[in-house]
Amino acid sequence: MNVINDNTCSWINDLEPRSHNNTLQSDIECEWLVIGAGFTGLSAARKLGHLYPNKKIILIDAQLAGEGASSRNSGYLVDTTLNDGFTSNKDLDNYKKKTDIYKLGIETVKRFIKEYQVDCDWNECGKYFASSKEKDRIIIENFSETLSKLGFKHRLLFQKDLKKRLGTNFYNIALHTKGGILLHPGKLVRAMIDTLPENVNLFENSLLLNWRKNNGKIHCNFKTGTIKTKKIIFATNGFLRSLGIKKNYNFPITLTASMTRPLTNEEFKSIGEPNEWGVLPIRPMGATIRMTKNRRILIRNTAEVHTPYKMSKTELKKRSLKQKIGIQKRFPQLPNDIIQSTWSGIVSRTRNSSQIFEKIDDNIFVAGCYNGAGIGVGTLFGEQIAHKASCEETDEIKTIETQKKPTWLPPQPILDIGIKARLLYERIKAKSDI
Ligand SMILES: Cc1cc2nc3c(=O)[nH]c(=O)nc-3n(C[C@H](O)[C@H](O)[C@H](O)COP(=O)(O)OP(=O)(O)OC[C@H]3O[C@@H](n4cnc5c(N)ncnc54)[C@H](O)[C@@H]3O)c2cc1C
Repeated sequence: MNVINDNTCSWINDLEPRSHNNTLQSDIECEWLVIGAGFTGLSAARKLGHLYPNKKIILIDAQLAGEGASSRNSGYLVDTTLNDGFTSNKDLDNYKKKTDIYKLGIETVKRFIKEYQVDCDWNECGKYFASSKEKDRIIIENFSETLSKLGFKHRLLFQKDLKKRLGTNFYNIALHTKGGILLHPGKLVRAMIDTLPENVNLFENSLLLNWRKNNGKIHCNFKTGTIKTKKIIFATNGFLRSLGIKKNYNFPITLTASMTRPLTNEEFKSIGEPNEWGVLPIRPMGATIRMTKNRRILIRNTAEVHTPYKMSKTELKKRSLKQKIGIQKRFPQLPNDIIQSTWSGIVSRTRNSSQIFEKIDDNIFVAGCYNGAGIGVGTLFGEQIAHKASCEETDEIKTIETQKKPTWLPPQPILDIGIKARLLYERIKAKSDI
């Protein structure tokens, strides 16, 4: 397994490159070690830094901090979802528990951006769950019923209205939910790096190769050094399985997305100058598509089992073509060469869409698997796993721990065959909306 940096993602390329990145180059000992510097690891390290101001906390990542999935996502901070991975929300009780977690996630991110005055293009414009097929009305109406029972404000919309709001007549039916935020994930995660407490030592480009517990300490071997620690938090999300963590309960999925350059005034006029918006698909494998604050179109329409994790340029080119077609279907009046970047990112899934938040052994903790909702939930779980590892009880932990635990997965090769078959089935079902 290797994790490498690349410059394929527009969200990352929007930011100034960071300087003074330290790499682990010796053998050290510490009390607290956090592996993985995405939303989860950064939040955990920040919380530990505040809980233990006189202790040194080490946060370490295989690549540049924040430049994994945390910078590479679509930027929806969600309050509700219609699909989590492969599953749709059916049971009201469980759905309520899920949205309780989303709510806490939004509050945690909101608190952070307020405290540190973060500019991350925050827009409380809600989001659309949309479909090009009128017959999907039944799915939307069922979802609307669930949302009504739980008091989420929402509205059904049809093609004419959608054309005005989104600038495309591709969609025939949609449900707009008021809650939920669109943001610039790169800016948010960068702010989390820039505001780490002083007692958090960040090491980057330092890949954890393996780890073991010995005489009450955890010994970690990195490519360029070793760390012996008393307590450890694993926050490597899509890479948990490759480190042998909760191996039979989570699996990685590779997603790809593309972003266009900003539309010119002419182009923007040709689609009716809509305000910023975000659409999520009704079927799990449909396209997520978004108009950003500065008039760029983002589209994500692939999800697959892929080894090695990062894609080559040639492989990205193939996905980019699918994304170009996705944009053309929706905006035929736009030129067909406006995609500026295409990138891949790794997420973690569980079979029943539950997240992982656990002590897996004495002094060993893990948080991850957000099934596509990691901006808020990852930030929340990072903070709360730091509390849990400090033996503190919080109301948030109580809420998190009322969720169902992830269910067991079959061994390889059955697992990969099963996931591939399911993805194929979902792709066929969502064909018109990819
Ligand atoms: C294309 C795409 C679109 C998405 N859209 C959304 C969205 O709109 N909304 C939303 O909420 N979520 C979305 N997600 C999911 C979201 O990005 C993740 O859930 C979230 O980033 C998880 O954060 P994390 O910190 O747990 O993991 P990551 O951000 O993946 O961070 C884990 C870190 O661990 C490091 N690591 C891994 N292995 C090792 C090792 N051996 N040694 C050291 N370090 C290691 C990695 O380098 C990485 O930086 C999307 C993801 C993708 C890829």
